[in-house]
Amino acid sequence: MSDLLVVAIDGPAGAGKSTVGRAVAARLDLAYLDTGAMYRGVTFGVLRRGLDPGDVESVARVAAAIDIRLAGEGITVDGVDASIEIRGREVTSAVSAVAANSSVRTELVRRQREWVIAHGGAVVEGRDIGSVVFPDAPLKLYITASARVRAERRVAEIGGDVDEVEASIIERDRKDSTRDDSPLTEASGSIVVDTSGLSIDEVVEQILRLLPDDQS
Ligand code: C5P
Repeated sequence: MSDLLVVAIDGPAGAGKSTVGRAVAARLDLAYLDTGAMYRGVTFGVLRRGLDPGDVESVARVAAAIDIRLAGEGITVDGVDASIEIRGREVTSAVSAVAANSSVRTELVRRQREWVIAHGGAVVEGRDIGSVVFPDAPLKLYITASARVRAERRVAEIGGDVDEVEASIIERDRKDSTRDDSPLTEASGSIVVDTSGLSIDEVVEQILRLLPDDQS
């Protein structure tokens, strides 16, 4: 796996990881993997079956059997287009419980590694990419921004009330960084990029300058 170019991007909810990651992938002509969409896809499947997201064994069985396909910004789950629903409030409030399930994580990490190998490298975005999924990636980034800025950006994209969105972002960060299995953390060797006062283009340029010389 060592000759694969993998750019690992971790960070809290709404920090701009997806926008920045997609732009970096396009500039490097690399595939882009949004691992959060996979956790959201499993959550969608769990809710669709009427299961409790906290039911560890049933949720593990769903993760083992579920068919998830990512295409561009879209996703199908067991053949159903779930691109819109996975971003909705129901999935968003249940996803941290599903992502705290160790069997789900083991299964999705395996699928993520396979996906990246099949695509010959990728920009991979999530919470545990530099710490667990690809700890040897040549470039590991931790992209962050203040909770307020993150909430303002989300509201500009999908609407809503800034205070409410900020509270939900803070709560999701708390759950993601305090869980036992693979908590959100700055992986060793990762470079912190704070996007609070920067434009997307500025962040992308900053990241491209960080690539090892033989890979830019
Ligand atoms: O990135 P996004 O906000 O779509 O991720 C949704 C949720 O999926 C996160 O809040 C987190 O609980 C989970 N996640 C994770 N590990 C990843 C990616 C996402 O636990 N690598």
